[in-house]
Amino acid sequence: MMPLTTAVAKTLNSAAILDVCSHCWKFRAQTWCRWRLQGKRYYSFLPDDVKSVRSVVNPDISKIRNIGIMAHIDAGKTTTTERMLYYSGYTRSLGDVDDGDTVTDFMVQERERGITIQSAAVTFDWKDHRINLIDTPGHVDFTLEVERALRVLDGAVAVFDASAGVEAQTLTVWRQADKHHVPRICFLNKMDKPGASLRDSVESIKKKLKANPVIVQMPIGRGKGFTGLVDLITSQRMTWHQSDGDGRVFETKPLDSSDDPEFLRNARDARSNLIEQVADLDDEFAELLLGEFGDNFDAVPPGKLQQAIRRVTLSQKGVPVLCGSALKNKGVQPLLDGVTAYLPAPSERHHDMLRWYNDDLCALAFKVVHNKQRGPLVFVRIYSGTMKTQSAVYNINRNNTERMSRLLVPFADQHVEIPSLMAGNIALAVGLKQTVTGDTIVASKASASAAAHRALGDDKQPADSDEKPRRLILAGVEVPDPVFFCTIEPPTMSKQTDLEHALTCLQREDPSLKVKTDPDSGQTILCGMGELHIEIIHDRIRREYGINTYLGPLQVAYRETVLQPASSTDTLDRTLGDRRHVVTVSLEVSPQEDAVSHVAFGEGVGDQLATEIKDAVQNGIHSAYLQGPLLGFPVQGVSTAVQAVSVQSGTSMAMVSACVSRCMLKAMKQAGGQVLEPLMSLEIAMVESHLSAVLGDLAQRRGSVRDIQSRLDSKVVLASVPLAETMGYSTVLRTLTSGSATFSLQLDSYAAMSTEQQRTLINKMAGLL
Ligand code: GDP
Repeated sequence: MMPLTTAVAKTLNSAAILDVCSHCWKFRAQTWCRWRLQGKRYYSFLPDDVKSVRSVVNPDISKIRNIGIMAHIDAGKTTTTERMLYYSGYTRSLGDVDDGDTVTDFMVQERERGITIQSAAVTFDWKDHRINLIDTPGHVDFTLEVERALRVLDGAVAVFDASAGVEAQTLTVWRQADKHHVPRICFLNKMDKPGASLRDSVESIKKKLKANPVIVQMPIGRGKGFTGLVDLITSQRMTWHQSDGDGRVFETKPLDSSDDPEFLRNARDARSNLIEQVADLDDEFAELLLGEFGDNFDAVPPGKLQQAIRRVTLSQKGVPVLCGSALKNKGVQPLLDGVTAYLPAPSERHHDMLRWYNDDLCALAFKVVHNKQRGPLVFVRIYSGTMKTQSAVYNINRNNTERMSRLLVPFADQHVEIPSLMAGNIALAVGLKQTVTGDTIVASKASASAAAHRALGDDKQPADSDEKPRRLILAGVEVPDPVFFCTIEPPTMSKQTDLEHALTCLQREDPSLKVKTDPDSGQTILCGMGELHIEIIHDRIRREYGINTYLGPLQVAYRETVLQPASSTDTLDRTLGDRRHVVTVSLEVSPQEDAVSHVAFGEGVGDQLATEIKDAVQNGIHSAYLQGPLLGFPVQGVSTAVQAVSVQSGTSMAMVSACVSRCMLKAMKQAGGQVLEPLMSLEIAMVESHLSAVLGDLAQRRGSVRDIQSRLDSKVVLASVPLAETMGYSTVLRTLTSGSATFSLQLDSYAAMSTEQQRTLINKMAGLL
């Protein structure tokens, strides 16, 4: 099931319109960077603490951490990222999301909307470690971006609002991370808020995420009185004495008898619980404990405890929980220590297929961005081998060879050009003009063939010809079907070609954007994952390509199915030129439980048919599935049994397919069509006083409430609502709740519309209403 939404757009921030620097390719208020002014090449802006070019080019793989930050919108992901960049010395001032001034939210729309859409990769160093941070979007319209980022990560930090616990989007991303077996640590942010609670948040992590939290820090003080943390591993307290400083300076000192006795007791109990929990999860640590420290937990060496927690994290038996307040500059440095201590290095992750490449280059293009001056820039993750500038690389998905001209490391405030980069790293490649997001890049065609050969040698049974190249490909991200679509028109016909170019570029960046042409009207149709997704694309076409397009009304992508079985027989007899084409086909369609549509040949029928006829029959059925009998939406939940096919010799295969499609349409009409509409599951969090207004509005949207939960001082409504009724919901909710509510939407299922609603929809689409 794929999650989708048209959800919260945060308050628009006013941001200066920035332009792209023609050298460093970052959005800047001026159109060039210091690089250009000084006229220097290469490495001119390395941060002070990156001492040698060699360390920039080739950090030791055990010291690399490719991580992502995942969170529900508003949990503080952007603020936390900014603090990380600041404390590691890569930005000179604290960016502020509320002022639309941050490094990772670098696209103009993101700045204005205050949300993180694109997975911008940022590189920085922390205590001898290289951290590549992929900023995953918190907005569910961009689930595909999250999914793609997760393939590239080795570990992740889940950021929570400690006053809200686990919220809907975290749940979605957490499940995706489970799917990709990504080890995680949790950061309970916003500990400075009055309602913040370590205990409640940990409970909700257990209950909702079904995870096993391992508490490694204890907050000191609550709400406004939150001043620091106790590190339960080292039994040290970290205190930020200045309440409004930048948080760089804090005091670390061991707990001692001068501390409040109750506080000391709590810290000691928390450490004992931690030690017992880790011993339950890690045999090596349990043995150590039994052998030497059974009676005296205080003597357990912090190093041993930390190593055991690392093993627990990597094996995903538990998730370390840390806490802090990014906005108030507390707890971010220990979080960075946690990233390096607990999350895996690239060499600690297993990618099965890499063994076929030996040490040859194998990399994944996980993001394409277009730059006006430089063309496409491709973010790559190198899994094995080395990538070099001025070299040709082979793209397995596109089956073509391209020349890569330059390689850049995306350091926070500039991109640094480098001659080569080794496995485990993330880089930005320049010059790859054909590469699309999700493609696998290797050294050469010969290297791909050698890997294919090894893969084949590994198999007991030879793989079929399609399977082979697919297994050599790193991470074809599943692209979910779009749920919204609308027409898009250029201001004048002379701009049509420019618009097509813009849409081609945008599709290379974002495979969840689909573009097609309406066969009847010839209009261009934009299909996307949500209202916000389409809005952003519209905006980008205007800003980045200078075309003011017109969008038609947003429409829901419905589905169709059949209600009962029906059989049909059709004969096509047509003479074209001097050639006669004669086909007769009989088939039966019937409804079925699961959502996919199937094809089966009746007993004895399939065996008698030549392969090319069978293929033509299947093509005919699949093209009939693309357009249902009622409104022309895709068909799901139908199985077709082909009962008889006779084809006179000389008949073209296109005629066979055409006859089958026509016969399918007849059968589906006879079976009675049913329109299915996307049903969304909706979660709304608000203060109690707004509950009745929200519920009243939901009732008018054909919504059904599943549950109302209490969460600290707020109410959370869980409901189902048809997608068609959610258009513009963020604006309505903002009005109803004076902007205080947040919500998220996910596609739950496709549900049958009532006869009356279906009739109204059909009349509306036929222009009768
Ligand atoms: P994102 O949507 O997860 O990227 O969240 P942001 O970083 O944009 O933060 C959302 C809002 O929460 C902003 O108004 C931040 O100023 C605020 N915020 C972030 N971290 C904290 C924190 O530690 N404490 C408090 N009180 N507010 C925070």
